[in-house]
Formats: sequence, structure tokens, C-alpha cells
Amino acid sequence: MKQNYINGAWVDGASSSANINPSSTNDIIGHYAQADAQQTELAIAAAAAAAPGWALSNIQMRADALDKIGSEILARKEELGTLLSREEGKTRPEGIGEVARAGAIFKFFAQECLRLRGDKLPSVRPNLDVEVTREPVGVVGIIAPWNFPIAIPSWKIAPALAYGNCVLIKPAELVPASVWALTEIISRAGLPPGVFNLVMGRGSVVGQAFLHDRRVNAISFTGSAATGAKVAAAAIGRMAKVQIEMGGKNPLIVLNDADLATAVNCAVQGSFFSTGQRCTASSRLIVEKGIYPAFVAAMREKLATLTVGDALGAGVDIGPVVDQSQLDQDMEYIGIGREEGATLAFGGERVECATPGFFLRPALFTDCSNDMRISREEIFGPVGMVIPADSYEHALAMANDTEFGLASGIVTTSLKYATHFKRHAEAGMVMVNVPTAGVDYHVPFGGRKGSSYGSREQGTYAAEFFTTVKTAYCGV
Ligand code: NAD
Repeated sequence: MKQNYINGAWVDGASSSANINPSSTNDIIGHYAQADAQQTELAIAAAAAAAPGWALSNIQMRADALDKIGSEILARKEELGTLLSREEGKTRPEGIGEVARAGAIFKFFAQECLRLRGDKLPSVRPNLDVEVTREPVGVVGIIAPWNFPIAIPSWKIAPALAYGNCVLIKPAELVPASVWALTEIISRAGLPPGVFNLVMGRGSVVGQAFLHDRRVNAISFTGSAATGAKVAAAAIGRMAKVQIEMGGKNPLIVLNDADLATAVNCAVQGSFFSTGQRCTASSRLIVEKGIYPAFVAAMREKLATLTVGDALGAGVDIGPVVDQSQLDQDMEYIGIGREEGATLAFGGERVECATPGFFLRPALFTDCSNDMRISREEIFGPVGMVIPADSYEHALAMANDTEFGLASGIVTTSLKYATHFKRHAEAGMVMVNVPTAGVDYHVPFGGRKGSSYGSREQGTYAAEFFTTVKTAYCGV
């Protein structure tokens, strides 16, 4: 059994769970510990005990530890990327790229340890100095989703440690191997016991324990909107600091003046790569009528060239869906799209491969409207839909007509429309002539409306969540 890591020691779980390769369900990657409520409580107690000391720890020591972790991740990116693809199903190049991103994030936050600034100001009253400083929040409970098994944990763990917080992390049940491997690296970085704790297990057990224990000062969650709402209610109910990243129904507008090759590239990458299992996926392709026929024809042509297969196979463009239940959800929505009157212009059927896996040919619906369920609800699979638009204004109105607000994109050669769109898209991240999925790690990540709650993740903006501000007055 791959063990949990609590208070500086590896410990068996109350039970274990098999980690299954979605490209080949006969391939069991390993058995991973599952904590019960009692073991989770021990981890919380360890983190709480370590927090005061770690909050005052030397920033050079923190920087060196994070840099060492980042270097090892980068040095082992091929091995760890292969493991990631084996457990999650994204292609090996995508898996390696994600691991490299995780390494870069640790190295970025290694430097951020040295850059935490405060302010010293004159007072409005006589004989006083005022200082504004940032302090760690304390113990941070991290609850992660399955679709970025190492990048999302890393972009929460690295800033948490950098700014002097103790960490409890619960990876998603489907993908424990990547965080386990990351934990093994972190366990050799010289952090004091209790500063970093891996608690694998169920959301309803481990996640709930993080949410309801007052010693957990802050919760950083990424996952579905349904779970996010429960997490928010529980955390706010006891006044814990909380940051929630959820789903999307991200529009990509294609205007008549777009470069067709750029539009198809953005749409195919954004809608279907990583098997469409990205919160920033372009799940609504809103296409102006003048370019609509050419765009649909070019999309079908491009999709026909893509290879669906084993995530570790050479030349594979699209790996399997993550598990049976996600596949069932994708197939259900493909059925809903047909019933709603959309045209299934490409794919949408199971693909037989040499191994038993959850393979699905990317599905493209055309003739959709923005009020269909397939245009409003997050499917989280390789299912794209094309919605015709009469004009830029019509396209923009439909793009913003959604309960989500994570990413929003446009393909156009018009400076006027690009500029207008950047200003008026109701989303946390706006993309012009690039796919809606794919971001930098040194700038803020997050959304608006039903996609996000709380302060932004990543880059220097991460300090907003992982620190708390103190104002000190001193008579002189
Ligand atoms: P999920 O909500 O099912 O699970 C997320 C995590 O929450 C898991 O670790 C799970 O064990 C835990 N959990 C489940 N129930 C819980 C409970 N009652 N209390 C506490 N924790 C609980 O999401 P998922 O299926 O793992 O991930 C897919 C979703 O994540 C999609 O909706 C996707 O859009 C979203 N996502 C968002 C972003 C973003 O940054 N906005 C990034 C990646 C994924």
C-alpha cells in the first residue's frame, strides 16, 4: 500500500483503494491508503502543532526547500509525466508538460519566499509609525480535482509553504499517484514534521474533516460547482478563509474576419485536447455566420486526423476519458444534444483499442443554440458544440450569457473587436487568437460568476489567499 504522510512519517491508511489506468483497466497502478476520520484528525493536529514554528521559519530555508523540490520534479519530468498520464489518461506529452509546469511553479514560489513585501507609512496622527505586514494564515486544507493531478496541487502547495503555512492535502480519489510521488519528493526537502501532510481518502471523509475542523484556517478547493457550493457553505459557516475554483462553459468566438487555420487550431486544442477534461476547455464555439460553413468543414477535416488511444501510445492525440462514470456522463450529454435537435457532425462514439479503456471519439455538435442544455451545462469531456451568431454583438451577448465566467476567447483579425472583447467579456481570463485553455503560471488564474469564489490563484496574487494582513501602530 502507498501510505499517507503525516507528521513527517509514512503511515498505512484505514483501508486502501486501487488506482486504475483508464487506458487499460486491467492495469492497476497501485493501492493507495485511504484515511478515516481519526487519521485525518491526527494530520490536522500535526499541522496545527507545526504551524507556529513554520510561520517564523527562515525564508532562505523555505526558498531552498522549494527550489530543491522544483529541481527534482523537473529532472524527473518524463518519469512523473508517464505516471500522470497512466493514471489520468491525458497523453504522455501533455503529462510531461504538466509535470514540467509543476516544477516551474515550485521554482517560482521559491523566489517569492524572498519577495514578500510590507509597507511602512507615516500616520495621520502625531508621533506614530504605521506598518502593514503579511503573515501566514496558518493551516491550509487543500482539496484537489482529478484532471490536473500534479499542477493544481502544486499551485496550491507551493505558495502555501512559501508564505509560511502548514499544508494538508487531499488529492482526488482517481489520481493519488502523482501527489504521492510529489509527497515523496517533498518528504526529502528538509521540512519540519507536520509542515506538509498527505491525507489520501474520500471527499466525504477527509475533505469534510478539513472543512469542519477549526484548526484548519483556510480551505483551497478546486473541483465541480456542486461540491464547491458545499465547500463554500461549510467554510464560510465557520468563518474559515476559502478559495474555490470550479467549472466553466467557456466560449470561443470565431468572427468572419478570423484566420481559419488559427480558429480551427484554437477550437480543436481548446475543446478536445486533454480529452476535453479541462475547466478552461472551449466548450461553446460561437461562430459568425459568414465563416460558419468553412469553419465546420475544416473542423470535421481536422478531427478526422486525430488519433484516439492509449495515453502512453506514440502519436496519440486524445487519450481516454478518466473513468466509467465520466464516460457515462459524456454519452448521456451526447444523447441529450441529439434530443435537443443539435446535429452530431462528427464522432461521439466509443473507440475500440487494443486495451480495455474509456475511449471516446471527439464529438462535434453543430446547429446548436445557446439555450440548449449542452450549451449551458459543463459536460467535462471531448464534446464540442458550434453555435451560429449573426454578428459580433450577438456572439458577445451569447458568450456572456452563462452562469460561468472562467475563460472567454475570440479569434479575429480586427483590433477593434479584440479590444472591445477584452473589455466586455465577463470572465476572469480572456484570450485573443489563442485557445481558452493554456495559461502562464506567473499571473493570476481564476474566474467570475459561478466559476470561482475568493481570491485568485497563482503568480504573486497567490499572496492574497495564503497570507493575512496585519496593521501595526507604534508610538515614536
Ligand atoms: P469534484 O467536485 O467531484 O471533486 C473535487 C475534490 O473534492 C475531490 O478531491 C473530492 O474528493 C472532493 N470532495 C468531493 N465531495 C466532497 C465533500 N462533500 N466535501 C469535501 N470534499 C469533497 O470535482 P472533480 O470531478 O474531481 O473535478 C472536475 C471539476 O473540477 C470540473 O467541474 C472542473 O471544471 C473543475 N476544475 C476547475 C478548475 C479551476 O481552476 N476552475 C480546474 C480544474 C478542474
